[in-house]
Amino acid sequence: MNNTLPGYETHPNDIEQMMTLFAPSLTIDKQLLDLIESFSRQGKMLPFFLLIKVVEQVPIAISITDKKANILYINQAFTDTTGYRPAEILGRNESELSAKSTPRQVYYDLWHTITRKKIWRGRLINKNKNGAPYLAELTIAPMQDEQGKITHYIGMHRDITQTHASEQKLINQKQLIESVINASPVAMVVIDKNDRVVLDNQVYKMMISDLGLTEPVLFFLKLLRQDMGDLWQYAARKERGFVNRELRIEGIDKRGTRWYACSGNWFAEKETGADAFFSGETKDYLLLSFSDITQQRRQQEELHLQNLRTILAEEEQIRSIRETLLGAMHQIRQPLNQISAAINIMSHRNDIQNQPLRELLEQVGTKGEETLETLQRCVPEIPETAVIPVNLNQILHEVVELSSYKLLANGIVIDWRPSSTLPSVLGSENKLRMLFKQLIDNAIEAMNRAGSRERSIAIATHVDNDRVNVSIEDTGPGIHPDQRIKVFQPFYTTRPMGTIKAGMGLVMVQEIVNQHKAGIEIDPNYDQGCRFKIGFPIYRNAKTKR
Ligand code: FAD
Repeated sequence: MNNTLPGYETHPNDIEQMMTLFAPSLTIDKQLLDLIESFSRQGKMLPFFLLIKVVEQVPIAISITDKKANILYINQAFTDTTGYRPAEILGRNESELSAKSTPRQVYYDLWHTITRKKIWRGRLINKNKNGAPYLAELTIAPMQDEQGKITHYIGMHRDITQTHASEQKLINQKQLIESVINASPVAMVVIDKNDRVVLDNQVYKMMISDLGLTEPVLFFLKLLRQDMGDLWQYAARKERGFVNRELRIEGIDKRGTRWYACSGNWFAEKETGADAFFSGETKDYLLLSFSDITQQRRQQEELHLQNLRTILAEEEQIRSIRETLLGAMHQIRQPLNQISAAINIMSHRNDIQNQPLRELLEQVGTKGEETLETLQRCVPEIPETAVIPVNLNQILHEVVELSSYKLLANGIVIDWRPSSTLPSVLGSENKLRMLFKQLIDNAIEAMNRAGSRERSIAIATHVDNDRVNVSIEDTGPGIHPDQRIKVFQPFYTTRPMGTIKAGMGLVMVQEIVNQHKAGIEIDPNYDQGCRFKIGFPIYRNAKTKR
């Protein structure tokens, strides 16, 4: 509907020029026209006048042009933005504003759009009256007459130089951070509070193929949480970090054992959503970095194994002396007990005739006890070592390495099936090594004794609830159900009689198991040989005090 504006002649002077230009061709919506008329009848200020005032005062540079972009009207914000007052720009082309550095294609696209009666939005490089360039965010809308022919264009633009600079700065900073992170030789990954990856680097991506895991961080997180216990929650709550926690990963898919030093830092970022504008809510993130220290650890391990060989040789010597002495003491103890029983019988019978024999027996008994005491003093102690969090995969691996010569010499194959990650247990490394060494030595001996054709020892670890379980199974003759409890008693042996150095190995194993609050059993369901199952309580970090 085309209508002439009522009350047109009442407009103030400053908009008169504009009204002269537009009034004949303005298309006014019926609803708006009704509203204007009703205001007019009530003798109130005309809404059209108000609309013009709004256009005049709105803080966006507005210009109205003819079909060739010759400027017919500008508002105050146009003057503020460009520096041009109406007298200086009216009648001139919008191209006056061009800094001549916008690509031609942009103008082509602009005109192509608006001449097709569509609204164009884009960015151009303009220059103000003083020649200073600025970035303009421009919207151009075509105005049409009742026949649908374009009569004018309305352009609205704002100077977004500052906004663009800030945006660009942000992008630059992001790119800088990303390139620094990507250039880092350390794998880095940022996760949100739902463990979703929000940023990672090239080295982290390489870990995906190295470890054969789709999202390695989830695997590491599980391990870290298990390992750090309450400490994890505490550090997360306090936005504290942790440095160089060593993580050992057993060969996934036949890949070798890997070690990583892992550090983590929690940080919070202000929420950017509209909802958080006043509340100042924050989002929590965790930056994790992983350095592959496999090579260093392998070298260290090699040195460590050399030391261990020496230590273990000494320990075996001690163990052998202990067993020999304890065996000898056991052998002396038996006749001494018989002598003591004979003396008791003689005393009860008040046997005066055999008094000299009784005295002789008493002398022998006393001498025997003295000998036992002397021998007891000679029994060397197993050296005590510090009790620390221990990775049983590491200990078992060391024991297998240390036994490799013996295993090879006896044609025994080791089937090593470690859990890919293992939480720590609290223990003495030395004692644990002695424990596993004893079980492996027993297995080798049993298979040799029985002349087993298939000769293998399977060693496996796995986590079950609050325990780290180790199983060591052989393909030897096994232990008869009647003997499964007795083998843990001192000097009980399934070996042929006649050896003095026998029957103390599993006593030591039981003792070490007890010291570690662990449990040991011979699996009754395994009938291919003998399977020892040992369950150790998982070590949980004590809650950190505030
Ligand atoms: P011009 O010779 O003006 O035009 C370059 C190309 O634009 C031509 O080759 C042609 O393809 C196309 N073109 C030009 N005029 C027409 C037309 N009448 N019909 C169809 N196609 C045409 N430019 C700015 O740089 N800054 C602004 O702030 C700005 N605001 C504008 C506001 C409005 C309402 C309108 C309608 C245009 C605006 N323009 C603006 C575009 C401006 O009119 C020029 O097209 C542009 O500045 C390029 O100028 P030029 O002298 O380099 O080339």
